[in-house]
Amino acid sequence: MRTERSRGNEYCSTDDRTAGQSTGRENTPAATGPADRTAIGVDLGEHTLYTACPVSMPDWKGAYAIPGDDLCARLDALRDRVAALLAGDADRETIVARVRRRRGALLEALDDAAREICDYASAYDRPVLVTEDSHYEPDLWAWLTDPNAHRGTAWLLPTAHLRLRAVAAEYGLEATTVPVAYSSQECHGCGVIGDRPLHETFRCTNPNCRVETVDADSNAAKVLAQRYYPDQRCAYRPPRSLATGERSALVADGGSPGSRRDGA
Ligand SMILES: [Zn+2]
Repeated sequence: MRTERSRGNEYCSTDDRTAGQSTGRENTPAATGPADRTAIGVDLGEHTLYTACPVSMPDWKGAYAIPGDDLCARLDALRDRVAALLAGDADRETIVARVRRRRGALLEALDDAAREICDYASAYDRPVLVTEDSHYEPDLWAWLTDPNAHRGTAWLLPTAHLRLRAVAAEYGLEATTVPVAYSSQECHGCGVIGDRPLHETFRCTNPNCRVETVDADSNAAKVLAQRYYPDQRCAYRPPRSLATGERSALVADGGSPGSRRDGA
């Protein structure tokens, strides 16, 4: 699935919510600027919970991904179980106690995954975790009882974001956020908005770009890592502002800013 015309990719990812600031430098070790740091993007998703990659990685082989399918299945099962209990004669205390136990187990799994990411990041020189500046608040009860709730945005992704930041703090790792707009559609190699022929695949449509088809989460992670550095932040220009017809022709899909939080 991951192919490129030549070497030269990396990715980073996103996540981090409580901080919220797009240029946050909280817990920054003294006297080091972005140029001295290794930005490691962390993209969050449901199918792949965390995808991490340093901005300086020459190819995709060193990226690190942790699957999220098991957590999703457990959240689905809990929702079904709670629905059955609510429809039956279980009292509220029984239901709340069950949810509390399951939530604790889910948080333990998230913390284990976050530790893997932090272990991975710690191997790099002066690492800083870079995630998207999303502002969802986790609400497990909403996921369990609101038929219109989205599993990712209702609980899993914001919680994964919070836990990553909490675990990073335990590791003494800086974590910061960058603007998320278009990060799931922008090519990390050239900044042009590309195709998503399959949900998990990103394809660059710029014929002059080395990138062909890559893992979408990895691409998004790399874009986020790039945005940590001031001279690379928000390199993408929306299609309507492109100056030339030639560049416009390279834009295949502008997508919707921020509409794909979990896929990017
Ligand atoms: Zn490209």
